[in-house]
Amino acid sequence: MTARTIRVAEVVVDGTALFLDKRFSYAVPPGVDVAPGMRVVVPMRSSMRSGIVWALREASGATDLRPLARVVDRAPVLTSDQMRMAEWLCDRYAATLPEAVSAILPGAFRLRVRSVLVPAAGAEIPDDVRGLALFQHIAEAEPALSDIRAKSRHDERMVRAWMTAGFLREEIRVDEAVGEKRQAYLVGSAPADVLRREAEARRRRARRQSDCLEVLADVGEVAWDKRLYPPASVQPLVAAGLVRVEERRASHRWAAGEELERWPELTPYQARAVRDLAEMADQGHGVALLHGVTGSGKTEVYMHLIRRAIEDGGQALVLVPEIALTPQLVRRFERRFGGQVAVLHSGLSLGERREEWTRVLDGDASVVIGARSAVFAPMRALKLVVIDEEHEPSYKQEDAPHYDAREVAMWRAKQAGALVILGSATPSLSSMYRVEQGSAKLVSLPVRANQRPLPPIEIIDMREELRTGNRSIFSRRLAAELEATVSRDMQAILFLNRRGFAHAALCRACGHSMECPRCDIHLTVHRSAEGHVLVCHYCGHEEPLARRCPDCGEEALMPYGLGTEQVEEHLRRAWPSMRVLRMDLDTTRRKGSLQAIIERFQAGEADVLVGTQMIAKGLDFPRVRLVGVVAADAMLTLPDYRANERAFQLLTQVAGRAGRAETDGITLIQTYQPGHRAVEAAKQHDYRLFYERERESRAFFRYPPFCELAVFLASHSEERLARGAAARFERELGRSPSARSLVVLPAGPSGIRRIDNVYRYQVVMKYAAWQDVKEDVVRAYRLVKEKMNRLGGSAVLDVNAQRI
Ligand code: ADP
Ligand code: ZN
Repeated sequence: MTARTIRVAEVVVDGTALFLDKRFSYAVPPGVDVAPGMRVVVPMRSSMRSGIVWALREASGATDLRPLARVVDRAPVLTSDQMRMAEWLCDRYAATLPEAVSAILPGAFRLRVRSVLVPAAGAEIPDDVRGLALFQHIAEAEPALSDIRAKSRHDERMVRAWMTAGFLREEIRVDEAVGEKRQAYLVGSAPADVLRREAEARRRRARRQSDCLEVLADVGEVAWDKRLYPPASVQPLVAAGLVRVEERRASHRWAAGEELERWPELTPYQARAVRDLAEMADQGHGVALLHGVTGSGKTEVYMHLIRRAIEDGGQALVLVPEIALTPQLVRRFERRFGGQVAVLHSGLSLGERREEWTRVLDGDASVVIGARSAVFAPMRALKLVVIDEEHEPSYKQEDAPHYDAREVAMWRAKQAGALVILGSATPSLSSMYRVEQGSAKLVSLPVRANQRPLPPIEIIDMREELRTGNRSIFSRRLAAELEATVSRDMQAILFLNRRGFAHAALCRACGHSMECPRCDIHLTVHRSAEGHVLVCHYCGHEEPLARRCPDCGEEALMPYGLGTEQVEEHLRRAWPSMRVLRMDLDTTRRKGSLQAIIERFQAGEADVLVGTQMIAKGLDFPRVRLVGVVAADAMLTLPDYRANERAFQLLTQVAGRAGRAETDGITLIQTYQPGHRAVEAAKQHDYRLFYERERESRAFFRYPPFCELAVFLASHSEERLARGAAARFERELGRSPSARSLVVLPAGPSGIRRIDNVYRYQVVMKYAAWQDVKEDVVRAYRLVKEKMNRLGGSAVLDVNAQRI
């Protein structure tokens, strides 16, 4: 007898919380075409699930494997490179394969699988009333059997009988997340003052209409977010001629025939950098750190190398910290590379995202620009990866699979033999350390492209202001420079890394600070139409700010500690004629249009821009003369080993916004700690000084880059269980073979012990190399995670954690 061989598909099933070694086997029915990387539908227990074929193998003899229910694709949606990348993510970040796949494949490719009941053609219509009603319901609503089961046992029995008789059958429906090709925009179609008047008139009876009008009065147009502005509330505004709806592509697409920009002559420093980097590129894989001061023309250098890579038949990937902040950058690339540019970002409609992804997959795009997740784009001829502003924390994903796009990029470039350029004016400590260790090469641009000096930075000692009788949030010097700047028709930026009106609400009588009832964190004061409100930045809890302290009963609750809203208010009060814009999470979320604020400031519609760290990321505002840091102290006291590094980077980046074009520039830093090393180094524009000192303290306290950190976090609504899970994890590590290679800090509450009534306990680990400890850490992690899942809690492991 000859053994019959069948083909078996190993499938990664979406949504299963299992580790790399767990895939599910299904028989491939004869005559069915399937290849790794294709999406399929498979039976899983009693339901149908979507998944991706990971591998195919032959098996001999009869098996009791269930067959694939359906093959969705004709061609793989994941390339084999991407599948290797997913496996690497699992290995490096202790992720599960479904997590890795969902990080790599855009949401536009996600499937929704349902098994529904449908009447067979010519089915016999029941004649009893109850049966008829149920049958009609099925014919119209196509429910799942489980819905019927949930409703009543009697109905389920009836439905099963109909199925046996052949009147009803179960059918699998597979829906793709289909998205519109175009994005709808709301555009104000009346003058701003009319919109504002209407907003006021509608404030009481139609809150959403009023919000919408106010936003349009401010920014002109917004991408239509239907959750914020439901169609029912927009319709009357359209009917009244106040608003119109326009549909267009969210991303600009270069039109054939548009003229490309000339390539400017490189400065001698740029030419030298291009030469050095080109030499590296010719040798295949390598990592370069392009350290160029703000305004030194790093982008021009990137573009020259990209041009070379394309001429060589290759593709280039450009990663930026946050694509929404860099429409200017995208346009710069399009002016040089035209229709070869593809942009991947979350602001695109699903349909557009699919389209861009497919252009990359088909090789129609040679330059791919995107934020963190673009590192997974399906390029087959990758020759160059640029990571702009490489020091930005947003390259690390905070949720599972917790990847660091910089690391993924380096791994990927190594496989592809491509060059990686890490670019920054303030390189991360870890990248500079890489240079020191010889695994990256340093290339420098020490002067600005326009030959102008970096703006002088002055430190203003706020203690001295207070001593000499100035109680304003603006020092005399800053006030004078603001006035001088605006009177010369130039612009100013005021930076404060804290949103809201005030940091907290504090009782002046007893010192009590208002805390969130659901989280272990104080509430932030915000301004609203009805006065001041207290808001939790973690769970969203909101309550009015009362005068009376709930602790001591005195009428002494007061806002404490500056926020951007308050800076805006002080500005308006001190200089009523100054035009002020604010850019922080609140204005950009509510208005849905960060870009509108950037464009309005660029167009000179405001004199002053008040903002948080959002304004520090590579924006080019040529008319900005003055940059004022309102309170550097907000950054200097954070309980994080990287607080100094971050403060130095932000100060330097913000200062770099001043005097970028043909004007002189000046930066004023207000602080109560003028001697702080991050402040001093920023003042002297001295990256080297900062690096040396910070490196020394990291080495002394043994923090990255002198080790790597991983954080295990257990969460549960019962504190006892969260604490127990962390303690168990710590114990497991303690008796593991690699205990000697690990420094395990004692289990304890995480930075914020409770968020939204869920308790969080953590264990921090330090080690030299993940490879040495991985096996034991992951074993302990799985053990505790599985237990926590059973108990209704959760456990996550953040490998190479950037914060603890
Ligand atoms: P960075 O990214 O290093 O801060 P940019 O690339 O934004 O700097 O360049 C700063 C400014 O200098 C931009 O306005 C840019 O157009 C200009 N620039 C850069 N290189 C050149 C060059 N070779 N010739 C003329 N202008 C340049
Ligand atoms: Zn809260």
